[in-house]
Amino acid sequence: MSDEELICSFCGRSKPQTDLLIAGLDAHICDKCIHQAHGIVIEEDKSSEDATNESETLDVKTPKLTKAFLDQYIIGQDAAKRVISVAVYNHYKRLSHPKSELEDIEIQKSNILLVGQTGTGKTLLAQSIAKMLSVPLAIVDATILTEAGYVGEDVESILTRLLQAADYDVERAQRGIVFIDEIDKIARKGDNPSITRDVSGEGVQQALLKLLEGTVVNVPPKGGRKHPDQKFIEVDTSDILFIAGGAFDGIEREINKRMNLQAIGYKVQAQKEDIDKDNLLQYVNPKDVKSFGLIPEIIGRLPVLTYMHPLDKKTLRSILTDPKNALIKQYVKLFELDGITLSFSSGALDFIVEKALEYNLGARGLRSLCEAILTDAMFEMPGGNATELKITKIYAEGKLNNSKDPTLKAVS
Ligand code: ADP
Repeated sequence: MSDEELICSFCGRSKPQTDLLIAGLDAHICDKCIHQAHGIVIEEDKSSEDATNESETLDVKTPKLTKAFLDQYIIGQDAAKRVISVAVYNHYKRLSHPKSELEDIEIQKSNILLVGQTGTGKTLLAQSIAKMLSVPLAIVDATILTEAGYVGEDVESILTRLLQAADYDVERAQRGIVFIDEIDKIARKGDNPSITRDVSGEGVQQALLKLLEGTVVNVPPKGGRKHPDQKFIEVDTSDILFIAGGAFDGIEREINKRMNLQAIGYKVQAQKEDIDKDNLLQYVNPKDVKSFGLIPEIIGRLPVLTYMHPLDKKTLRSILTDPKNALIKQYVKLFELDGITLSFSSGALDFIVEKALEYNLGARGLRSLCEAILTDAMFEMPGGNATELKITKIYAEGKLNNSKDPTLKAVS
């Protein structure tokens, strides 16, 4: 066979048109087709690698390992961490097993309701879980939500945020986490004077029901009603984990009332003595949340109920220095980047904690206090000759007294 007659079996080029023609048993392949085929092989490898990574994200950790992970970031709150570790484990276990494997048993979602004062770590818990699982997280405030047609955002906007957090990857969004903050603020009340807002809050609760349970929603990718032309994206919420949090101010009254009622009668004294009156929140149950004003259907769709302890002095002190990315560690790093060794006396740390308790801002106050104490140094020191800064109680007190932050000044 002459060179002209030899052709590539893939593209049909004759031998003179190629740089190389390799012979096989009954066929030939040219250098160009080899390159092209090689490209396809690499592409294929990459996409199967991506698929493996995706399933790795759902490599669910056992509740014990989950709690150990959370312990690195969240101080105390053991009860909440245990309950949530189990809920998250069950939720993602359900996702990582195809429905056929579960046979006829349909495992329901483990959406979570977290009751606890502001600044006790509810958002941090949701964030840490999302970080552990590498799933997208949307944090929304229930107070901005309204029933369709009212001023405010429709509940679908929650999913817009989740889509954005997932870079519009619908699959990822559908396995994500939504943290709804201030869920207690949409409790049924009735004396809200505004007429443009959904007055009772019950409408929003109704609108949330379907989302929590699992439904397919048409989501405006850019959110809001400002972009009427946008094409909707369908999002199935069946596998999205919802965590709702709220302070439920005054729920202790409901708990107290219920517990007193229960204690009436036989063994009254013994039962009453067992009650830890200083932290009634630990006894919270769905009935109390219902008395507070959440509708039973919502409570039913947030079946995992747990509570956060108020932060005491010891916990605040530990929050300041112990977590993996503790505030003090962050400031030390910031100064270190400028070649300055920053340290705090233990008196200074105690002082910061006492002030945070005084301002009643939970752990959030720690940040503003540290800023107020360190701002002058962070302004003056970079570019200078000093290589060390030790914060003592006297230094901290002095800076705080001169602070321009009105929230800090008011009490100091
Ligand atoms: P919440 O959502 O309950 O209002 P956050 O989770 O937003 O409170 O907490 C506010 C800040 O306080 C967080 O960024 C975190 O740094 C800190 N914090 C609160 N509670 C804890 C805790 N138990 N452990 C560690 N840090 C905490």
